[in-house]
Amino acid sequence: MANTAHANLVLLNARVLTPTMGRESGLCHAQAVAVAGDTIIAIGGNSHISALAGPGARSIDCAGMTLIPGMVDSHCHVLAMAAALGGLDCGPTSVSSIRQLQQILQKEAGGTPQGEWVRGFGYDDAAFSEDRHPTRWDLDPATPHHPVRLDHRSGHATVLNSRGLELAGINRDTEDPVDGVIQRDQATGEPTGLLLEMSGFLRQRLGVTRSPAEFHRGIETLNGELLTCGITSVQDAGPGNDLDRWQTFTQLQEKGSLACRVTMMAGASQLGDFQRAGLTWGSGDMRLRLGHAKIMLTFTTGTMAPGVDGLRDLVATAHGAGFPVAIHAVEQEAVAAAAQVIGSERSTLPSGGAGDRIEHCAECPPDLAGLVGRSGASVVTQPGLIYWHGDEYNARVEPSLLPHLYPVGELARAGVSVAFGSDGPATDPNPWPAIYAAVTRTTRSGAKVPPRQEDDPIDARQVSQQVTVQEALNMYTQAGAWSEGTQRQKGNIETGKLADLVLLDQDPFEVGAPDLANIRPVITIIGGRVVWER
Ligand SMILES: [Zn+2]
Repeated sequence: MANTAHANLVLLNARVLTPTMGRESGLCHAQAVAVAGDTIIAIGGNSHISALAGPGARSIDCAGMTLIPGMVDSHCHVLAMAAALGGLDCGPTSVSSIRQLQQILQKEAGGTPQGEWVRGFGYDDAAFSEDRHPTRWDLDPATPHHPVRLDHRSGHATVLNSRGLELAGINRDTEDPVDGVIQRDQATGEPTGLLLEMSGFLRQRLGVTRSPAEFHRGIETLNGELLTCGITSVQDAGPGNDLDRWQTFTQLQEKGSLACRVTMMAGASQLGDFQRAGLTWGSGDMRLRLGHAKIMLTFTTGTMAPGVDGLRDLVATAHGAGFPVAIHAVEQEAVAAAAQVIGSERSTLPSGGAGDRIEHCAECPPDLAGLVGRSGASVVTQPGLIYWHGDEYNARVEPSLLPHLYPVGELARAGVSVAFGSDGPATDPNPWPAIYAAVTRTTRSGAKVPPRQEDDPIDARQVSQQVTVQEALNMYTQAGAWSEGTQRQKGNIETGKLADLVLLDQDPFEVGAPDLANIRPVITIIGGRVVWER
């Protein structure tokens, strides 16, 4: 396309993956890209693009490497990721028993002034040799002079020690909040310290317990990690996202602490506050914008909360306020309810914005995938969980359900638009192990999900969930932009779109499947600015 603007950045000698990369006809490789300001102004051959370079333009020789659109992590929890990175790591690679947990908490408390919070992140009960969650009684002897808060890697459970419970005002007389559970000792009724789905409750009771220094260290580390793996946009899916969070993100962007673009979802209970502040879906700009209304649909209390009618009200209210919805649904019953309500509320969906979506869609047998397809919902799911936790699933999940866990292939074939996210800090934000798992249905130990049966070298139960490299890459780029409604501005390499670009050390279409997990960016560009180079 003709363009009279001078380019201030040209990328030459690349294999440029243009939008036709998804077409049956095969891959379309251009050689070079010209960027003016934050926008792609031309794609073509080396000589054509070189001629567009203005005085002082930067020219990058890509040495034949592959240039892809910047990747979109469509579901993660940015502040929790930063907190986990800046704080004490209690994840499965660092801590494998409650005994060990006690030791590192004791050490951490030793370096923390008395009375200040000691926080640990990412513990995994399934990885502990004791095979259970820790309790206040495990934590108390190790940290008698500090309140302690321990967050589970899933983000759905927290353990407080006795001082922590006291500060949060939780005792045997405290009633469970509507959507959370205070686990209690069966004999005495005393809280054990384990709290399920209570992060919102704790934020209300305790305010911010993280240390600012740790948080800023965490943001810096996170920023580096995202750019290093080629993520140029994230969608923050916090169910409690409120105006405060919006302010935090605004400040992070202003200070330049977070280079990637952020779409922050709005907690469904916060829509009134956003509206009063003059903010609705799509408000903000391409660096920080307000996204879908996030609704939680959980079984923490034993029954689905909210029920179908309550869910319908929430969806209708969000639509009425101008927001499409993103419904957290993991279990089959939740996925079915989400699909049913999204389908029946199609007429109230605000026009001109993005569609409604189902987050996770973890358990989804074929008939349910069909229902999701007919509902018009898109799905944002996490194949990275198959890579990182597939071995646990093989050991623990009911065998008949295993083939339909995170069913990327079946959903895609049911006509559902599927986008990928990491659900960080639940898993690592690196998209490449997730793409590897989506293409191969293989865990980090090399096992298949479900495990391969001995007499069947090509097990159809895994193959049905696999997608091609093209599909998987689309799910991390174009479909990510679609899922948040920014497909006109980003998601592929096209003239007029934002210059969010990633140069890769290996071509994903040429490496063997086992090497997909090891692809690494060489250069990451956001809005025409080189924000990271190896
Ligand atoms: Zn999440």
